[in-house]
Amino acid sequence: MNLLQVRKMMLFTAEKMVESEPALTTLDQVVGDGDHGIGIKRGFAAIMVLLQDEKFQPTNIGDFFTQIGTKLMISMGGASGAIFGTLFRAGGKSITGVTEFDSDTLSKLLNEGWQAVYQRGKAKPGDKTMVDALAASATTAGQLTSLKLIDALPKIAQSAMEGAEKTKQMIAVFGRAKNLGERTIGHMDPGAASMAYILKYMNEYIQTQ
Ligand code: ADP
Ligand code: MG
Repeated sequence: MNLLQVRKMMLFTAEKMVESEPALTTLDQVVGDGDHGIGIKRGFAAIMVLLQDEKFQPTNIGDFFTQIGTKLMISMGGASGAIFGTLFRAGGKSITGVTEFDSDTLSKLLNEGWQAVYQRGKAKPGDKTMVDALAASATTAGQLTSLKLIDALPKIAQSAMEGAEKTKQMIAVFGRAKNLGERTIGHMDPGAASMAYILKYMNEYIQTQ
């Protein structure tokens, strides 16, 4: 995929994330304080505006994702604005100069993004956060770098969803959800759901191309 195709993929993904607001709000009402859907909607609506602006002309795919991360960080707010912003900023920086988006570049973005998210928030897999979806997807991506993106991405997205599903069994120790402790058992972490959705929609887009 070239930069223009990546831009179209992320515009599609941003539209779908905005549409996911009610589902994410419902999850955060049970597990957190109810604002995650609003934050995601605000962040990805800002991404939609950015990607439809002809003046936005990133120089390469790394620069593209770095600027997406900055936009999320500024516009989303909350714990997750910093977390998702960090994912795309650090992930983008790790592929600086790249002009072709393939399964190897996606693996770098997810794995370097995961490390940066860990540095920032210290959540490990099992702590019931978006890291559970991110880590699962990054690990799978690292194993599939020899596949074409169109063949790797369905499996990467599926791993993220499985990681998000597993958060139902976990007790939250981070964010506002930690105050709810064992009451969060049985419910998916909203940030993990968002992470899984992002990869789900990226995959949906590329399968139609
Ligand atoms: P807030 O917690 O400020 O209300 P949101 O509701 O937007 O922020 O986002 C909550 C989500 O952020 C959680 O579901 C979780 O996935 C993610 N999150 C919170 N703290 C961390 C952390 N330290 N590391 C990674 N993700 C985190
Ligand atoms: Mg919240």
